[in-house]
Amino acid sequence: MGEFTFTETQNMFQRQVRDFARKELLPGARDRAKQDTMDMKLVKRMGDMGLLGLNLPEEYGGTPGDWVMVGITVEEIARADFSMSLVPHQVIGCGMGIVQGSDEAKEKWLPPLISGEKMVALCITEPGCGSDAAAIQTTATRTGDGYLLRGEKTSITLGMQSEVAVVFAKTDTKAGARGVTAFLVPIDTPGLSRTGMADTGCKPMNRSSFFFDDVLVPENYRLGDDGKGFYTVMGQFDFIRNCLGLEALGAAEASLDEAIEYAKTRQAFGRPIGKFEGVSFKIAEAATMIDAARLICFRALWLMDQGRPHTKETAMCKWLAPKVAWKVIHDCLLIHGQVAYSLELPIEQRLMDIMGWEIGDGTEEVMKVIIGRELLGREFLPYDR
Ligand SMILES: Cc1cc2nc3c(=O)[nH]c(=O)nc-3n(C[C@H](O)[C@H](O)[C@H](O)COP(=O)(O)OP(=O)(O)OC[C@H]3O[C@@H](n4cnc5c(N)ncnc54)[C@H](O)[C@@H]3O)c2cc1C
Repeated sequence: MGEFTFTETQNMFQRQVRDFARKELLPGARDRAKQDTMDMKLVKRMGDMGLLGLNLPEEYGGTPGDWVMVGITVEEIARADFSMSLVPHQVIGCGMGIVQGSDEAKEKWLPPLISGEKMVALCITEPGCGSDAAAIQTTATRTGDGYLLRGEKTSITLGMQSEVAVVFAKTDTKAGARGVTAFLVPIDTPGLSRTGMADTGCKPMNRSSFFFDDVLVPENYRLGDDGKGFYTVMGQFDFIRNCLGLEALGAAEASLDEAIEYAKTRQAFGRPIGKFEGVSFKIAEAATMIDAARLICFRALWLMDQGRPHTKETAMCKWLAPKVAWKVIHDCLLIHGQVAYSLELPIEQRLMDIMGWEIGDGTEEVMKVIIGRELLGREFLPYDR
């Protein structure tokens, strides 16, 4: 395998995004973290910068780039404002799904999503199943005019703020994963209702439940072919797992920067606490673990850019990076002592925020099942799917 490093273009891009995030997203981030909506003015600013259209077609407002640049974007934004960092992966991910749709669907929805004027939700999970996504019960029944969607989705990021949703439903209830089809559903379609959830962390993502009561979706709002939802549409979402890893690491990097400053200035027993190995070793371990996790996240995105297999590498990032981030942020909290065990500092907020990233888009156990399958072969899967 060739070596992965950032190119000069990627280094320059990183400086631009970091500068933007520090100047425009860092101020007010802590206040915004307490709100249950995303600030759409700032989302629009990300749209103006071209950050929401990376790798999406230029004819609909997309920005030429690569997957490493998407990773750089979310990491830098997460260092400044964790909640905001999910917006680029959300828009680009769903955008990749919408690209599989009709010209009408693309023309109507891609430009306002890429410019940050509208928001999109991704609906897979249901009350009865999350990890076992092929077991979804929501049905899409053919009618003369299209499909009637019936069922319930839950845990939907940005659900209450979205104008449109990419929804997975069964067009063939007997065909397992091969019976799943993807649709684009405007939220104001009759029969669709939603309700918000009360989240532990990352409140602006405002997860919600969606109820589909015979929601009519026209044929030209189907994404990809019947039964191909998992293969041609969900297959586009792989990069989101690497983004989630880098977002969690961005929050860990911000915490480590703060802990280093604190260790240099906080005095105990007549000296700065950074002189105690109990503190400096925590910092050394944190920096090492961040570096290792960050490298595998970027390597997986780089493999995508090279058009090379990356399923195993992506699953590795998704379980390791949020876990590393949690450990690092926890240690940084302890380095700050009692002052960090309060709402005064942002560290407790970050712990709660990134815990969701350990679960969302596949848990640690499910990622290890994927890695095991890639290493041992399908015949060693613990189930028959
Ligand atoms: C912050 C956040 C945002 C989310 N956003 C969205 C969204 O926008 N859209 C959406 O559709 N969903 C979303 N989700 C849902 C998410 O994808 C699911 O929560 C996730 O896939 C796990 O499903 P579950 O919670 O139903 O857990 P379950 O599948 O019920 O699993 C429960 C436990 O059992 C373990 N387990 C399950 N199967 C196995 C196995 N084979 N081997 C070993 N252990 C196993 C799991 O690891 C877990 O610990 C989000 C979740 C979170 C936390």
